[in-house]
Amino acid sequence: MEKIKMTTPIVEMDGDEMTRVLWTMIKDELINPFVDLKTDYYDLGLVNRNETEDQVTIDAANATKKYKVAVKCATITPNAQRVEEYKLKKMWKSPNGTIRAMLDGTVFRAPIVVKGIDPNVKSWKKPISIARHAYGDVYKATEMKVAGPGKAELVFTAEDGTVTRELIHDFTGAGVIQGQHNCQDSIENFARSCFEFALDTKQDLWFSTKDTISKKYDHTFKDIFAEIFEKDYKEKFEKANITYFYTLIDDAVARVMKSEGGFIWACKNYDGDVMSDMISSAFGSLAMMTSVLVSPHGYYEYEAAHGTVQRHYYRYLAGEKTSTNSVATIFAWTGALRKRGELDGNNDLVKFASALEKACIDTIESGKMTKDLALITSIENPTVLDSAEFINEIRTNLEQNL
Ligand code: NAP
Ligand code: MG
Repeated sequence: MEKIKMTTPIVEMDGDEMTRVLWTMIKDELINPFVDLKTDYYDLGLVNRNETEDQVTIDAANATKKYKVAVKCATITPNAQRVEEYKLKKMWKSPNGTIRAMLDGTVFRAPIVVKGIDPNVKSWKKPISIARHAYGDVYKATEMKVAGPGKAELVFTAEDGTVTRELIHDFTGAGVIQGQHNCQDSIENFARSCFEFALDTKQDLWFSTKDTISKKYDHTFKDIFAEIFEKDYKEKFEKANITYFYTLIDDAVARVMKSEGGFIWACKNYDGDVMSDMISSAFGSLAMMTSVLVSPHGYYEYEAAHGTVQRHYYRYLAGEKTSTNSVATIFAWTGALRKRGELDGNNDLVKFASALEKACIDTIESGKMTKDLALITSIENPTVLDSAEFINEIRTNLEQNL
């Protein structure tokens, strides 16, 4: 069989620990034999980030601006223990944070749905993608504890010196205060990323805030979404036969629980933090969650939602076989290859991405899976495979699909 040609590269960001081991296996067994793979490679493994003083992360983000499509392996976000373990020069920042800030992006998380791994919510038949606004609110808040009576105020001093004040509370005793903010351009970018991703994946978009209580703050989010939708997306949505739907966060939660799924739920920063964990655990397994960073400028970076699976890696280093689930990482590759194919009009590449995804799903649905899935599947007597056997089984199914 002739290999599928690529005209433009994708940006490849290698990573750490067990997912780095899977990365090579996936390329060797599931991609290189079938695709004449072109990538612009960056090693974001912690050793190389430390050696390059994290310049490699910046280079990888800039390359993503150039080529528009990237695939990323999970990476270690250093903490004190990692600084020790890897003898780091510095506690380098989270690569995902750096890349997100450079691309202005919004992260969309979506579960991979297969028969036999049933969501805890019975009505959910299709995936629910969560879009989390990753800037501001409580994550950039200033807080104060007050010890006794006194007056708390919000004070804004404009550049021309004009002062605006609002009373927060006249304290008669001790208490706490918090000041939050967000920025117009960040909310606009968030809205555009959501509308673009909805069009891209042909799914309805829901957005929810607490605008009835927060008549200025949350209401501004609602208004920005509504204005951008009316101006730039209404017609496109009609053509694509999808809808934009705004509702109060309480109502959204109630509706989500009774829905069939198959839509994108855009959330403010805190809501997205909480709801994405709820959705991923209710869909079954973190190892089956994909994640894509979509920028309003049309850049896409695909990855698995889980981390580097450190505990498995230590067992792997000790010479043991692990049963680590590679599906979300494989779907990161297929997401990037499909997007590359769509942008380049390379239909063979698009078809290959779908065939590889189907091979993963077929493998699990035939009862062959990794341990994490075997523990939660409704399929009787599943066969538990190790990391390499599972990928080999997917390859066998892929060869039949092609
Ligand atoms: P993790 O890598 O997501 O793993 C947590 C646990 O979840 C694992 O120990 C394993 O449970 C299970 N698990 C996750 N993915 C799995 C898979 N593919 N197959 C089978 N089981 C899987 O989280 P962590 O151990 O807390 O974090 C490890 C490192 O990842 C940290 O250094 C963190 O900074 C980094 N991280 C990176 C990203 C990213 O790059 N996007 C995201 C999150 C975390 P069992 O051990 O019970 O089998
Ligand atoms: Mg969280």
